[in-house]
Amino acid sequence: MAKETLKRDVVIIGSGPAGLTAAIYAARANLHPLLVDAPHDAEKQTAPGGQLMITTDVENYPGFSQGIQGPELMDEFRQQAERFGTEFLETWIDEVDLSERPFKLYTGEQTIQTETLIIATGASAMWLGIPGEAKIPEGFGGNGVSACATCDGPLPHFRNRSLVVVGGGDTAMEEATFLTRYAAKVYVVHRRDKLRASKIMQEKAFLNEKIEFVWNTEVTEIVGTPDEGVTGVRLRHVQTGEERILPCAGVFVAIGHKPNTDLFKGQLEMDEVGYLKTSGHSTATNVPGVFACGDVQDSVYRQAVSAAGTGCMAAIDSERFLDHLPVALPTGEEITIEGERVTPDHKAIITPDGHMIPNFSEDMMSQEE
Ligand code: NDP
Repeated sequence: MAKETLKRDVVIIGSGPAGLTAAIYAARANLHPLLVDAPHDAEKQTAPGGQLMITTDVENYPGFSQGIQGPELMDEFRQQAERFGTEFLETWIDEVDLSERPFKLYTGEQTIQTETLIIATGASAMWLGIPGEAKIPEGFGGNGVSACATCDGPLPHFRNRSLVVVGGGDTAMEEATFLTRYAAKVYVVHRRDKLRASKIMQEKAFLNEKIEFVWNTEVTEIVGTPDEGVTGVRLRHVQTGEERILPCAGVFVAIGHKPNTDLFKGQLEMDEVGYLKTSGHSTATNVPGVFACGDVQDSVYRQAVSAAGTGCMAAIDSERFLDHLPVALPTGEEITIEGERVTPDHKAIITPDGHMIPNFSEDMMSQEE
């Protein structure tokens, strides 16, 4: 059977805070966005709504003075995007072709053609894959196990208790340091005797009296009870094989994140870890008309509110591009939908056939004279 072809001006992939904010803005700008989100799949860690769907209390999203549950917040985002006419399609995208506009997205049943594409596919926290780590009811995920100290560290359950952070990179140092604001003690459990974290982050952690390092050690199990949540971790020394239980009230897994960018490999510029590269001045990727927002292009802040902020930017960038206005590229140039490039110093426009014309209005010329 022939595949259905859908033609749109704006397609958004991903339905976390970034994707849904892009949808709210694009829909209000009358661009009739189509938002494609991945179906729920526990193994692939995907769920419409993104990472907040596996979070409980969200206390740092502005506008909710008493906090809100992650899934409830995402439901609000979704209803707002729906209210302005966002069209939703829940399906896997198998392949994309970004070599020319309209860009093409291939799903099992459709070929989607679009003039602009907003990528908001997010990133997934990496997990240890050990007993006790899974989400309630299989494990203690959401009941003492977390991958985000900024999100969960300030919860009352963790105050003045002993906590464990797993990992030896910058994230682990940052999470451990942050958690000392609330916890009585933070153990950093690392599988080697050297940290991967930058010198400055290491020093900060070493100087913090509440942080204790547990070297050459793996966490092999998270233990607890359904009522109390996490009560401890089982540790194994990697050289001696010796095992012991370290009592704690919470475990923060900080062993890295994986941006969800496999679909775009070889078509969009990425850093060495796989995060999409965007311009400092916009959400533009290296392919004109393709924009990226949220955690898929942010390895540093990774917050719902910063993702929502870049989602808004991506929708505005997309709108500008469709309106024939120049949009900043990662190279510092700007480009229009017709392929005209404005040089980084804004002094010239290079036409698609290679001609260079001065970028001065008559007003500016007369001011210069
Ligand atoms: P990294 O990949 O840098 O570090 C991951 C850490 O987790 C490593 O120490 C690694 O151990 C350990 N690890 C990985 N897998 C396992 C496992 N299965 N079991 C036990 N330990 C494991 O990730 P980060 O998230 O820390 O940082 C990612 C990037 O983001 C980096 O470029 C970092 O600099 C940047 N970043 C910057 C920040 C800032 O500047 N404020 C804050 C946070 C991140 P091993 O060392 O043995 O490989």
